[in-house]
Amino acid sequence: MAKKYVYFFGAGKAEGNKDMKGLLGGKGANLAEMAGIGLPVPPGFTVSTEVCSLFYKNKKRVPEDVKREVEKKLKRLEKTAGQGFGDPKNPLLVSVRSGARASMPGMMDTILNLGLNGKTAAALIAKTRNARFVYDSYRRFVQMYGDVVLGLKPVAKDDIDPFEAIIESKKRQRRIENDVDLTAEDLRDLVARFKAAIKQKTGHDFPEDSREQLWGAIGAVFGSWDNERAIAYRKMYDIPDSWGTAVNVQLMVFGNMGNDSGTGVSFTRDAASGENTFYGEYLMNAQGEDVVAGIRTPLPIADLRRDDPKAHAQLEKIRHILEKHFRDMMDIEFTIQQGKLYMLQCRVGKRTAFAAIKIAVDMVAKKLIGEKEALARIEPDQLNQLLRPIFDPAEKDAAIKGGRLLVKGLNAGPGAATGRIVFNSVDAEAWAKRGEKVILTRIETSPEDIKGMNAAEGILTARGGMTSHAALVARQMGKVCVAGCGELAIDYARRAMTVNGKILKEGDWISIDGTTGQVIKGKINTKPSEVLQVLIEKTLDPAQSPVYQTFAKVMAWADKVRTLKIRTNADQPDQSANAIAFGAEGIGLCRTEHMFFGEGKIGPMREMILADTLQQRKAALAKLLPLQRNDFAGIFEVMAGRPVTIRTIDPPLHEFLPHEEKNQRALAAEMGISYLKIKERIASLHEFNPMLGFRGCRLGIIYPEITEMQARAIFEAAAQTKKKGIEVVPEVMIPLVGHVKELSDQEKLVRRTAEAVMKEQGVTFKYLVGTMIEIPRGAITADEIAGVAEFFSFGTNDLTQTTLGVSRDDAGRFLIPYVEKEIFAKDPFEVIDRDGVGVLMRMAVEKGRKTRPTLKIGICGEHGGDPSSVEFCHLIGLNYVSCSPFRVPIARLAAARAALLNPPLAASAAKKPAKKAPAKKASKASKPSRKH
Ligand code: ADP
Ligand code: MG
Ligand code: MG
Repeated sequence: MAKKYVYFFGAGKAEGNKDMKGLLGGKGANLAEMAGIGLPVPPGFTVSTEVCSLFYKNKKRVPEDVKREVEKKLKRLEKTAGQGFGDPKNPLLVSVRSGARASMPGMMDTILNLGLNGKTAAALIAKTRNARFVYDSYRRFVQMYGDVVLGLKPVAKDDIDPFEAIIESKKRQRRIENDVDLTAEDLRDLVARFKAAIKQKTGHDFPEDSREQLWGAIGAVFGSWDNERAIAYRKMYDIPDSWGTAVNVQLMVFGNMGNDSGTGVSFTRDAASGENTFYGEYLMNAQGEDVVAGIRTPLPIADLRRDDPKAHAQLEKIRHILEKHFRDMMDIEFTIQQGKLYMLQCRVGKRTAFAAIKIAVDMVAKKLIGEKEALARIEPDQLNQLLRPIFDPAEKDAAIKGGRLLVKGLNAGPGAATGRIVFNSVDAEAWAKRGEKVILTRIETSPEDIKGMNAAEGILTARGGMTSHAALVARQMGKVCVAGCGELAIDYARRAMTVNGKILKEGDWISIDGTTGQVIKGKINTKPSEVLQVLIEKTLDPAQSPVYQTFAKVMAWADKVRTLKIRTNADQPDQSANAIAFGAEGIGLCRTEHMFFGEGKIGPMREMILADTLQQRKAALAKLLPLQRNDFAGIFEVMAGRPVTIRTIDPPLHEFLPHEEKNQRALAAEMGISYLKIKERIASLHEFNPMLGFRGCRLGIIYPEITEMQARAIFEAAAQTKKKGIEVVPEVMIPLVGHVKELSDQEKLVRRTAEAVMKEQGVTFKYLVGTMIEIPRGAITADEIAGVAEFFSFGTNDLTQTTLGVSRDDAGRFLIPYVEKEIFAKDPFEVIDRDGVGVLMRMAVEKGRKTRPTLKIGICGEHGGDPSSVEFCHLIGLNYVSCSPFRVPIARLAAARAALLNPPLAASAAKKPAKKAPAKKASKASKPSRKH
């Protein structure tokens, strides 16, 4: 049998099912599934994603054998529907819908009512006796076809859609406001004007032949896989180019047949709050995207109980069927044709972080899913949304009392954002690039606006409901969004808008509250989220915050599953306390040099650096000793027995010296030496390439008295803490080691100091001496180094710099272009470069543990808080990751998901992950649930 490329669905049967997303796309697979479980789905067929690659191989034409298969399925559809495609008496109309494996807003839009031409339109009028409906469908068809197949789109960024312009002029001429008030005659005239516009702009007549229309549309769907928007979207969400899209051809049902018809979109639960209530919007006498396009403001789904109680009850039933069947919150699209309900789409629904967490937790309580599945459904970065700021209530109150409340829209994406108004995406990106906070303000948004939305603090729209494009994308991106503010009269060309009599211009400050929908003039400061108020500020009782409680539950589940420990990078007691509140189990990196900039310390530090003799240097160090000891004691107390890794001094010494003459003169006066001398010393410390210069362990080797002072401060603080009855486990970490002899030099010094302090203080304590692995030679000779080191910590910032030969501070000019050109898949300073840096890491782990099987290994670079990098650390068998305090919850969840998605690791199995990575990504993205 020949290979199958086209899959039929309808009338209670389907050739596909929900597990065939790779082949049928998300839309096609779920249409088949719904048809298969007996839900009312209009019949149709899906041309598989494999045809998409055939299409590109075949000079952008659908191969003949596939065409024949489509014709066969079209016959079957005609039979099922009892209508003929292109039949001048009893015409069959179809929709042509794109549908990739993951839902992709960058793709071709759907074309409805395909098959209409002069003859079929006349036949349909004769059959339905509803000319208005037929011309409404016809003008929509010509408009959609003209846009997506023939390419009639707005040209400049301030332009409006050419078809919309024609409609607007018609409405002005007829002095009416709403599309629904256009008569059959008006609509017929629009069809003619649209066709004329197409002829004028493209030089071609609008195709009258139904088959020509169909192949044009199918070709356009496949062709749209490679348009700029789709490519940009794929890059943003890691969707492989090779996936391709499917095409769905489906019998039309009509929501625009009159007031007993309608169309809607809804979620099986509230997508913003996660509440278990039916949530959505609909419009009577409307078709397709009317609800989301914001042409009319849709009604809340609850009102359907009044407009069509039967359909409403049926939808309520279907919502439960779907949730039980798919075990998730679903996003559905439906149409009612003369009182009969049809399901047109279902997919796992996008949701806010609040909703994602709440729904997962609620579904566990209802036993719809298990704890592990709940964890798998929450992207680590979504937690960010819970940790994000809200408006300072007092300031907001004052703003409202002061009359600055402009208007209230729909609370489409929760959170608080303040920024300056820009009216298009291009500007949003440009302004954000130069560091401005912006609120992207649009009549409505479209997929072209994605980059601008991403760059903005928040999004404000005049049209569209809770399920409009702006709302959906904002929630997915975790952006604040207020949608559907009908009172905004936006003039793109003038870059200004009026709101209830007030004029706001581009660049004016505005504040939007995506939780309440309020839009407020001017800037309002933000304050910490509820979770932060409970954990950090301690101003909110956990019992008073359901948000916090669900957060805590998820964290507890994550902690049960993960095998990686989570530490934090902190160098102050308060930071350490925050990190513990967020769940940190230790400090993975305490940078001692940060302390030197603290109160009273920079003076003696500079004295030490500028000292001429050993004696002078020792005198300065003696002043620093008690100060450092205090710092460490403070941290040890807060950490209460949790391990604390302290790194000895790392940056080049000139970083501590003043750069300006004024300050240099002040320092000279303070030290009682001449300015010239200071200047000379500073000049002598100058380096051409400080990153690779006199820093790290090199300092402690040339000036052992520095390491000795630091070790003494650490151990005296440990002794002091121990005497207070508090456990303490210092881990002294020597940076920038490339040769084992560097480490032994410092290790001996540290151990000698430890022994001395224990003797002097009369206490004993445990401590470790270890090293950072942050230059390639360290990783390559890890077996030798592990002979001395009791632990490794990967300094992946420096390891990335030295492995790639890229200075992060100088990479600004080429790093982003490198990512855009796909030379780097991701910014290697954000996400570990698994195939380069990662190979060195894996080698160091293997070699290190060969020498010392108990070697403790962690990571303390910025990557320790990046979910993909955390997963990599799990895969190569690290003991812990360390990240900034505010990323600790994210790392906890990322570590849990890494453990769930990757079976427990024998050290030897660590060989595969680099290859496995892309495939895994793919399977993640194939659940369109969370990202798209
Ligand atoms: P998207 O991928 O943007 O969601 P869809 O293919 O789902 O696009 O089409 C958008 C809308 O068009 C649907 O929500 C539905 O209202 C309408 N539509 C699509 N196919 C049909 C059809 N066969 N009959 C009636 N309406 C349809
Ligand atoms: Mg849809
Ligand atoms: Mg380093």
